[in-house]
Amino acid sequence: MRTCPHGVEDGGEAAVLDDLDPLVGALRERGFAVVGPVARDGVIRFAELGSAADLPRGLADEQAPGFYRLHERGELVFGFAASPDAVKRYTHPPRSVLFRMRGGVPEKVPPRAGKVALLGVRACDLAALAVQDRVFLGGRHPDEAYRERREALFLIAVTCAAPGGTCFCASMGTGPRPTSGFDVALTELTGPHRFLAEAGSERGAELLAALPSRPAGDADRAAAREVGAAAARMGRRVDLDGVRERLIERRESPLWDEIASRCLTCAACTMVCPTCFCVTVEDGVDLADGTAERAERWDSCFTLGFSELGGAPLRSSGAARYRQWLSHKFSTWVDQFGTYGCVGCGRCVTWCPAGIDITEELERLR
Ligand code: SF4
Ligand code: SF4
Repeated sequence: MRTCPHGVEDGGEAAVLDDLDPLVGALRERGFAVVGPVARDGVIRFAELGSAADLPRGLADEQAPGFYRLHERGELVFGFAASPDAVKRYTHPPRSVLFRMRGGVPEKVPPRAGKVALLGVRACDLAALAVQDRVFLGGRHPDEAYRERREALFLIAVTCAAPGGTCFCASMGTGPRPTSGFDVALTELTGPHRFLAEAGSERGAELLAALPSRPAGDADRAAAREVGAAAARMGRRVDLDGVRERLIERRESPLWDEIASRCLTCAACTMVCPTCFCVTVEDGVDLADGTAERAERWDSCFTLGFSELGGAPLRSSGAARYRQWLSHKFSTWVDQFGTYGCVGCGRCVTWCPAGIDITEELERLR
């Protein structure tokens, strides 16, 4: 099969799969742990799949600022938008050991990455992965642990069939249809239920060629185009025109204090954000077995200690910390990495306990 990430649009090759079980089985045979969405505790999370039967068929989500609910609706397997788990959990985990000593002797740290196939990755998360590639691999000191984990990934993307209430990937130019950065892309179709599959890499093509499938016909392609077009009509949007300069000009705006009066500085937005990458380093000693280890774990520009310098935080107010976060995402990130630090996934809006909506705050900063 020719690998063509734009198959539906340009008439490239695509196959129709009636069932995802052979795909899951073939990946497991190739030594991958297959990780995909499952419904757990009222939320869609990523977890290892035993088979395609573990996928959350017939569930849809409702997302709004500070609000998330799952409902039984329809027959789709991927009928929901971004969940709190982003791909960064697998490339840049919440905690990772940097080195370990026992009795003063360095010990081998367990392997950092096994082969993981991620099933159901959204276009916004592929864009976030590209952002993180620049952050971790693009500078003079590439992060080799990130590289190992990144290279161990096999990515099966899915076109979002229904935008979440907080999504704005269409404004950021990152979705809803995956166009690059995947091994296989699926578009879920109904009437009858099936998946249009396109390869985005040689190994993706090799995998698809090994699965029971039939060539996609005109009706399958038309249905896939419809899914992508419908999902692009999302409720939230951001006007990027002049946003970078505006955030610099408005750095003394009273609006920062007003936002801070609602912000709890809880850091939830940075934990769920697929591009946030800040860490702190901690040392620990286990007196029972005599080991000492140094680990890095996720940190956030919303914590007071994050900007501590010379015994005092540089950003002591909530206003300063929110301004830092928003300005970094839409302004200084561009200076640093040549791209925005936001991909429009909407997670920070959904999971903010105060319901603070960055699309609204950016609009108010006009
Ligand atoms: S914006 Fe919301 S999620 Fe982020 S720190 Fe403030 S209260 Fe927490
Ligand atoms: S800033 Fe918010 S909407 Fe943008 S990528 Fe991060 S979590 Fe998603």
